[in-house]
Formats: sequence, C-alpha cells, structure tokens
Amino acid sequence: MPGHWSPYADELVETARKLVAPGKGILAADESTGTIGKRFASIKVENNEANRVAYRELLFSAAGMEEHISGVITFEETLLSKTSDGSRPLVDLLRDKGVVVGIKTDKGVTPIPGTHGETATQGLDGLLERSQKYYELGARFAKWRAVLKIDVANGCPSQAAVQENAHTLARYGAISQMAGLVPIIEPEVLMDGAHTIEEAAAAQERVLAAVYKAIQDQDLLLEGTLLKPAMTTPGAESTQKVSAADIAYYTVRTLSRTVPPAVPGIVFLSGGQSESEASRNLAAINQVDKLPKPWALSFSYGRALQQSCLKAWQGKKENVQPGQAAYLARCRANGAARMGKMVEGDSASNETLYVKDYKY
Ligand code: 13P
Repeated sequence: MPGHWSPYADELVETARKLVAPGKGILAADESTGTIGKRFASIKVENNEANRVAYRELLFSAAGMEEHISGVITFEETLLSKTSDGSRPLVDLLRDKGVVVGIKTDKGVTPIPGTHGETATQGLDGLLERSQKYYELGARFAKWRAVLKIDVANGCPSQAAVQENAHTLARYGAISQMAGLVPIIEPEVLMDGAHTIEEAAAAQERVLAAVYKAIQDQDLLLEGTLLKPAMTTPGAESTQKVSAADIAYYTVRTLSRTVPPAVPGIVFLSGGQSESEASRNLAAINQVDKLPKPWALSFSYGRALQQSCLKAWQGKKENVQPGQAAYLARCRANGAARMGKMVEGDSASNETLYVKDYKY
C-alpha cells in the first residue's frame, strides 16, 4: 500500500483480507487464565496449564476447522506453549492448516475515576516491543478489547469513557501496524442493562464515530484493520421483544453510519448471546438488503463457538472427539451464517451465555 508509514503495509492488507475470506471467521480462544478458569469451573475441570494446553490442543487439532476458521486469537501463554507431547509449538497446529495466529495484547481494564464504573483498557506501555516479539513468534494479528457500558440514567457511556477508549484503541492500532500485526479494534458496548435497541444503536454510533475519528487522527491504514463490535440488541435486562431481522437491521444501520467502506471486515463478538442466537443473527445480518454493506460481515466468537464443546469434553481424554464434533458444528454453522445461510438441522443450544460485567 504505497504511501503508508507501516513497513508491513502490504502484508497487513493481505492478512486482513484473508481473515474475512468468504465462509470464514475467527475463533476467539484468548481467554485469560482467570476467564478460562471460570469456564473450566463450570465443567469441574482444574485450571492448570496442562488442562489449558489439552483444551486448546483439542480446538486447534480439529480436522477441517480451517474450512470455516481463518484465524484464532490466542492468549500469550498459548502462543508460548508446546503441544502436550512437547514436540512443537502449539500454534503450529494452526499454521500447518493455514490458519492465521492472533494474540490478545491488552492487559485488561481499570476503572476511570469519577465515572459510574466505566473503564479504560491497559497495556500500552511496552506494547511495541511485545508486538514485535509476537510477530517473531508467528502472530500476524492482534486484539484489544475496550469496554463501554450503557446506563442511560447515569449518562453512560460518558464522553470521558468514549474519548479515552477511542484514543487508546487507535494508539494500540497504530503500534500493532508498526509491528506487522493487523489490529482488531474492539470497542465492546456491553449488553448489560435494560436499554432498548434504539438506545443501544445511539450509544454504539457515538462510540464508533469517536473510534474512527481517532483512527484517522493517528493515520492507521484502514485497509489493514478489522472491527469487532457487539451486535445492536436490546439490553440483557430489557423486556423489549425484537426479531433477528430487527437486530440485523439496527446493526447494519449503526455500522453503515459510522464505519468507513475501506475497512475490509467486521467480525462480531458473541457477547453473551446463545449459540443459536449468534448464528441466527449473523445470518440475518448478511441477509439485510436495504442498507449499504461494503464490508465483509463475519464472526470472532468466543463463547458461541466453544460452549457446547466444553460441555462435551468435560476435561476427559476419551471425550476429545465429541468435543471436536461439537466445536466443528458451531464452526460450520457460523461459516454458513457469514454467507447469510443457516445449516439445516443445526442443533445449536439456546442456553444464554450472558455474564453480567463480563471480564475477558
Ligand atoms: P465472546 O464471543 O464470548 O463475547 O468473546 C469474544 C471476545 O473475544 C471478546 O473480547
């Protein structure tokens, strides 16, 4: 990409396109040690390194996942781990399949004093050096999660939180591009609250407009970025009834008002939706035909790709195959949804995966 300052400009554009190839999306397997511990606790599996490696090996070695999964976001421990037999790096299982390796580079959130419990994301100090190290280890894209919440009565998201998170996401994005990593820009507006879908849309528009202003100010190469937003839905405690088509309409409307067409792809987080909602809503989003959709619309799901797999696995060696089968079924369904289609006979779970005040 002539004229951009990143020495990796061409590679960034190519990687971003590859991550949103037709029929494919991203697996978010970058749960921090604390977060994966909560998932393991739900199936009574001890949270130790051997179990974390065994679980991620199950995911990465699932034969055929590469038909639907273009990239996997890892946590640093995973990027540095060996396979359980100690023979080679765990992420080689992905690279052998042509799946792009990603890395979570943020260091979690901290309160912004004087706000109603809003947060800033940490991790900018030393980020260039860490990102360069991750590139050397084979990572080609990064993720950074900013968290905003809707609380209409208390004025959230506040201007302070919007500005802080927009600025930090753009700083992270520029540093990632300097190191050759495609930044996934993730301004997650939480589902928490009783707000309506219209209120969610208004808050998301305000957040995204600020994010793209900061990205412009810091001269990122838009073609070498991806956006990871939440879909536009009513709050988890709202009684408003909406259809998948309503969610799809508001989601695409919000994005069409704020995200430049130069961005190659938008990869949604599942954010507490059930496995079946996450697939159904993504298919509906790709079916919207009355609004502009200049970007690929795909997925970067954590919970909605993994929940039934975890349940099938239960931490037992003899359950690796059923665990992989459950995971592959979600990969297939979401790969189809990314093309606007539903898999016939899909037995996705309706169990809600919502967690109040979710930490990653
Ligand atoms: P969920 O799909 O579980 O919301 O997680 C995706 C993610 O990477 C959040 O940062």
